[in-house]
Amino acid sequence: VTVLPTREAAVVPAPRADTAPRSMTLLGATGSVGRSTVDLLLADPARYRVETVVGGRDVAALARTAVTLGARFAVLADPESYAALSDALAGTGVEVAAGADAVVEAASRPVDWTLAAISGTAGLPSALAAIRRGGHLAIANKECFVCAGVPFMREAARHGATILPVDSEHNAVFQALAGGRRQDVEKVVLTASGGPFRNWSRAQMETAGIADALRHPTWSMGRKITIDSATLMNKGLELIEAHHLFGLPPAQLDVLVHPQSVVHGLVHWRDGSVLAGLAATDMRILISYCLGWPERIETQCAKLDLAKVGTLSFETPDFERFPALRIARDALEVGGGSPAVLNAANEIAVEAFLQGRIGFMEIVNLVESTLIQADRLGMLRTPASVEDAMVLDREARALAGRQLASA
Ligand code: MG
Repeated sequence: VTVLPTREAAVVPAPRADTAPRSMTLLGATGSVGRSTVDLLLADPARYRVETVVGGRDVAALARTAVTLGARFAVLADPESYAALSDALAGTGVEVAAGADAVVEAASRPVDWTLAAISGTAGLPSALAAIRRGGHLAIANKECFVCAGVPFMREAARHGATILPVDSEHNAVFQALAGGRRQDVEKVVLTASGGPFRNWSRAQMETAGIADALRHPTWSMGRKITIDSATLMNKGLELIEAHHLFGLPPAQLDVLVHPQSVVHGLVHWRDGSVLAGLAATDMRILISYCLGWPERIETQCAKLDLAKVGTLSFETPDFERFPALRIARDALEVGGGSPAVLNAANEIAVEAFLQGRIGFMEIVNLVESTLIQADRLGMLRTPASVEDAMVLDREARALAGRQLASA
């Protein structure tokens, strides 16, 4: 598994046959990462041959994407949408399928490059199928690492898959790690914007409303991840992700609050040198790196203008006001099934917050009480397989639901 790019790989581009476009599959083609990827593909269509596009339930969006990209196969996860998708693509020659098994089958078809951008644990089976096929996998799905990190990385190694991280912090670290040898890494630092409550007191945060929490200062993302950025749970999940992706122990992973979101990740080397990854907050920059790797491709993305940014500031995260970071770190250190339970409980808690059922600070309380209860029930075993991780995820959601009901 090529998790760490070697110095050679990063500096000397691999020979590429210009006559052979790269074949690819887009899992999650109609989501925000998928749409950004489509933008990049359309800027240089001769370079890529899209075999398969997979969406959730948006028939019109998937059909449009399939036709625009000239894909051969279009699949929706929602089995009820089969007839509508067939109608929408009638006469185009695009093969059509729907349902969870069809998504996995599509992900198993041989291609050079796959985007794994189906969000949540729903994205695990197809990412696993793709990784078992080998090749390059640009992964935008945190659950592959947080819920099933150990078995997922084992499968990647076994099948010689190359994992390219789409998440901005990990993408920056991945790039910076090319500047030296793994054994010379002292620590890896992920930055956090600090979210909308960076300067709020704990008392203010106790009464924070849904609209307050959804007001992310630098990135425009989905509701769940925006709430995770407000609690800093997102950064906690990213620490776990980094641990598996880069094979680094928790002690070598750190978080720094950086409100401008210009520096996304840093690698500290044992000689005192630091390499950082900087970029404008445009998702297409990260995806383009994964698309071109190990080369770089021209993009029309926003260019970083540091003179315009002016000041970059950094702060140590406050574990008192943002206990999610401490709990996630503990889960990473305990290991086993803890990260999977943490993630599942957090999803239930964020949903409950967004429904107005619990307060903002209760999100983390629910996660913590679920972890304690899961430990009592002997649920924190290390998932033996990705399938096992999905079972644990379901059990942990049910447990969190019971905790919520009894709270
Ligand atoms: Mg991120």
